[in-house]
Amino acid sequence: MGLGDPRVPEGREARATAASYAPPVGDLQALAERISECRRCERLVAWRETVATEKRAAYRDEDYWGRPVPGFGDPAARVVIVGLAPAAHGANRTGRMFTGDRSGDWLYGALFRAGFASQPTSTHRDDGMVLSDAFVTAPVRCAPPSNRPMPAERDACREWFTAEMELLERLRVVVALGAFGFAESARWLGLSPRPAFAHGAEVIAPDGPTLLGCYHVSQQNTFTGRLTEPMLDAVFTRARQLAGH
Ligand code: SF4
Repeated sequence: MGLGDPRVPEGREARATAASYAPPVGDLQALAERISECRRCERLVAWRETVATEKRAAYRDEDYWGRPVPGFGDPAARVVIVGLAPAAHGANRTGRMFTGDRSGDWLYGALFRAGFASQPTSTHRDDGMVLSDAFVTAPVRCAPPSNRPMPAERDACREWFTAEMELLERLRVVVALGAFGFAESARWLGLSPRPAFAHGAEVIAPDGPTLLGCYHVSQQNTFTGRLTEPMLDAVFTRARQLAGH
């Protein structure tokens, strides 16, 4: 199955009427394969592949993924975590969202404490991590220079984000990490006027899902104490409540 396939549900109404339906794993896998082959953005293709070739010294013996990174997690997830884009030496190296860097340590540590993740660390794609009722994704699938995708790249990637989100039929809560993911999630949820991003923001979409704002788990935020573990844990505790746990 791929983009434009008639089996991809149309709009939030379809999702709302299928609360107990979880898509076949194969649908998301087929989409993931298509995403991982995308070469639409010339600048990002060049960057992700240059990073994968030059490598960071600490990882020089590893084979970098160096391709677009699909979402990861439970196809029946009620909670979706939306970041920004893969990190150059994190997900762009390992091929799994938020895997292999300090941001991922923070995120998966919190998901483990909240009962969504089977283990507290996410180091590589074959580390045995299993997410339960949670799915981790991002609006842009290729690592951008300085973690800053251009508007045209964001727009080019939106089709993948939309297709993946629409396949998560049981989705009830979107936890957006940072203003970029918050804005793209609000757009996808059809929120108008667009809500302003804030840590702790909570907005209910017209057809039911709730959007939660959370500071991004970037080192810029975690090293400085702008985002602390208790703050992150409080967001996922709230996400669990909203998801009906
Ligand atoms: S950022 Fe998205 S649209 Fe652009 S090349 Fe990567 S996967 Fe394709």
